[in-house]
Amino acid sequence: MRILVVEDDKDLNRQLVESLDEAGYVVDKAFDGEEGHFLGDTEPYDAVILDIGLPEMDGISVLESWRRDGRNMPVLILTARDRWSDKVSGIDAGADDYVTKPFHVEEILARVRALIRRAAGIASSEIEIGPLRLDTKLSRVTMDGRNVKLTSHEYRLLSYLMHHQGQVVSRTELVEHLYDQDFDRDSNTIEVFVGRLRKKINTDLIETVRGLGYRIQPDENAG
Ligand code: CA
Repeated sequence: MRILVVEDDKDLNRQLVESLDEAGYVVDKAFDGEEGHFLGDTEPYDAVILDIGLPEMDGISVLESWRRDGRNMPVLILTARDRWSDKVSGIDAGADDYVTKPFHVEEILARVRALIRRAAGIASSEIEIGPLRLDTKLSRVTMDGRNVKLTSHEYRLLSYLMHHQGQVVSRTELVEHLYDQDFDRDSNTIEVFVGRLRKKINTDLIETVRGLGYRIQPDENAG
């Protein structure tokens, strides 16, 4: 999962990026509205954290412009405590959620998880497919109840496929959602990661759809 953080406060930006990174997300960052707007317009994100008070272009205008252009990724806005009207304008502009400053970063992480789940149509913070269980809160994977040690790349890959269960996900899409903008994007590396992941989870749950990509089928017995 790939997240964009648009926040002009350098310390806050760093804190958010570090916490999201630790939680297993790939994170791109911008420090003003124009840069943020450009990234959100050109790169695919699974969620965006957008400050409202930004230099160059304010957060509301950034969001309005994205929505006008059909960019429909989940957006969490950050508002100042004494600016209730920002929440109203933000939600009207197409924000999915908001957090008021100052905040605990855990709240941001929980809301981002919920936004990503909601976008994927998943209600629970734990996703189960057969013996495989992904705990999005702890960024942990178990297989038949046993802990599976994954690298951050492998976790992201599995998490993305499980959030998009039943869909064929192309290599290009995976590269775009698993690496930040500076990564040397070679879609062949995805094959290598899928190979390692298959070995570690030791099942044939990850299906190769020839010429198209990969798919994890939803649990037939679920729901
Ligand atoms: Ca600000």
